[in-house]
Amino acid sequence: MHELSIALSMIEGVLEESEKRGGMKVEAVHLRLGVFSGVDQQALDFSYGLACEGTQLEGSQLVIEKVPLLIYCPFCATERAAQSEQQLCCSICSTPAASIVQGQELEITALEIAA
Ligand SMILES: [Zn+2]
Repeated sequence: MHELSIALSMIEGVLEESEKRGGMKVEAVHLRLGVFSGVDQQALDFSYGLACEGTQLEGSQLVIEKVPLLIYCPFCATERAAQSEQQLCCSICSTPAASIVQGQELEITALEIAA
């Protein structure tokens, strides 16, 4: 499963980071997840729980911040919401997007460390 390999590589990175800081216990991992990243939030959440088992991260929480899809509309000459994740067109004038501004994120933004 796609999400499981993502969860595994996330956890690997987090464990590395915690080791660098002397093996501190991580209580929560904050993640920014774009709606257009191709990652299913629920599946990722589930995979994270599985992948944490037997590691130092067992019992930690994955806190997902959803990032909405934003495109650049060449007609409006500004950033707009997209019509949908399938329809990368301006929600105002329906012009196809020139580029995706936001919504493809998959990045860890913070680690909560046990006091
Ligand atoms: Zn537009």
